[in-house]
Amino acid sequence: MTTGTQRRVLVLGGGTAGLLTAHVLAEYADSVTVVERDALPPGPEHRPGVPQAHHLHVVLPGGQQALDGLLPGVVQELCAHGAFRIGIPRDAVLWSAGSWTRRFPTTMHLLSCTRPLLDWVVRERVRKHPRIRLVDRTAAVALLGDATRVSGVRVSARETGPRDPYDLHAALVVDATGRSSAAPKWLAALGPAVPPAECVDPGLSYTTVQYKGAPGSDAPFLGVHIQPDRNHPRGAVLLPVEADRWILTAYGMRGHEPPTDQAGVLRFLGGLADPVLHEWARHNEPAAPPRGFRNTANRRYLYERAGTAPSGFLAVGDACCTFNPVYGQGISVAALQAVALRAALSHRQPGRRTTTRTLQRAVSTAYRPAWQLATGADLQYPATTGNRPGVTVLPQQWYIDRVLARANGNRLIGDALRDVLGLTAPPARLFTPKVAAAVLFAPVPQPLTTLPLHAEP
Ligand SMILES: Cc1cc2nc3c(=O)[nH]c(=O)nc-3n(C[C@H](O)[C@H](O)[C@H](O)COP(=O)(O)OP(=O)(O)OC[C@H]3O[C@@H](n4cnc5c(N)ncnc54)[C@H](O)[C@@H]3O)c2cc1C
Repeated sequence: MTTGTQRRVLVLGGGTAGLLTAHVLAEYADSVTVVERDALPPGPEHRPGVPQAHHLHVVLPGGQQALDGLLPGVVQELCAHGAFRIGIPRDAVLWSAGSWTRRFPTTMHLLSCTRPLLDWVVRERVRKHPRIRLVDRTAAVALLGDATRVSGVRVSARETGPRDPYDLHAALVVDATGRSSAAPKWLAALGPAVPPAECVDPGLSYTTVQYKGAPGSDAPFLGVHIQPDRNHPRGAVLLPVEADRWILTAYGMRGHEPPTDQAGVLRFLGGLADPVLHEWARHNEPAAPPRGFRNTANRRYLYERAGTAPSGFLAVGDACCTFNPVYGQGISVAALQAVALRAALSHRQPGRRTTTRTLQRAVSTAYRPAWQLATGADLQYPATTGNRPGVTVLPQQWYIDRVLARANGNRLIGDALRDVLGLTAPPARLFTPKVAAAVLFAPVPQPLTTLPLHAEP
């Protein structure tokens, strides 16, 4: 992309990644048009293009920082609309590796709200930018250009098919069409090499139920997460969201899929490592029937590799790299990618062009830690498909196993692990001298097997 204000940018997809990318690029472009297939609702409502929005969507601390850096005050605005900031580990009860986590003082907050609220608040902020135009009910159907350069997009204003296509031209086309992006197919039609892809699939399935009610001031916890492990590949998480609702998501790896009817969900919850969620669900009233979601593999396209994409094309968000959702990373990574794009554009050399490959590299650097965390964890499950790492990673796995065995009861190790999982620190945080000493020499804490109903001082 040539920076300056004479250029036009097209962003395909008006989800979180598309909107945040548009917001950043609008500082460097003459105009940014966001082309969205759905009709964009006037409020926080569901729409067909984001079917995952019915499921729990937390924003990790690293994502909150990134969102606030892009749209100052946005986290506070979400909280003003009823989003919860849940202190971890103090406010929630968390089961993993055969033990509850001790409820030590909080070191990070999860932001919990519905996805429609998050999208709406972000959309209304971005919409106000004078150089951004949102064009909804319009689907991208093909890329224009040739093997060396993408020069625009063919769009159709009809939701049902490409019957009335017309062309939009731009210096830069950004694919933010999400997990089911057709860009690899569109690029193949232009002739360049198909982008290499990697997929690690634990076969995770989600079933989500919304319940009526809100945590009272005397609630023993603000959230529950029972995490799976190699021996129990089932889990569930419960968090409050705005408008007096709780969202409960049950999930299982391949062969352990949760049913999608209410009685089946209850049965599934009864089979978890602890009965707390089964009991909770039995005593609360669903607000809507359960909803399932199956397409959850980790997958990335290596667009940043030389020769895999023409200039003038950039992929962001799930269209570039999508994660097993159970780690709650996608939105945070989309925000971190937008921050990385802004940094790459603002550090450009005066008088020199910023290539799309430079921008694509910034995007991939931003998602890489999350990719390593998600795929590293998923490859522990025997039923996961994808390239298994060689023996060279065995020492690292041995170390991470020691981290996990101690994190629930050892505050130093637990805090470091939460920083990494929350995307506020790189994985190297687990190898700093103090943490490494504890990982290598501290004994495994006594497992806490009774539900910790009280926070620790
Ligand atoms: C079940 C589930 C639970 C999840 N939970 C979490 C969580 O807790 N925390 C978290 O951070 N992430 C979570 N994620 C991941 C998160 O949903 C994604 O990472 C996030 O939506 C990525 O944003 P995006 O803008 O890239 O894509 P999307 O949000 O999918 O947006 C893509 C947009 O492109 C539009 N579009 C598609 N095709 C076209 C086209 N041809 N032309 C024009 N527009 C088009 C769509 O209508 C949509 O608006 C979860 C995902 C799933 C599946």
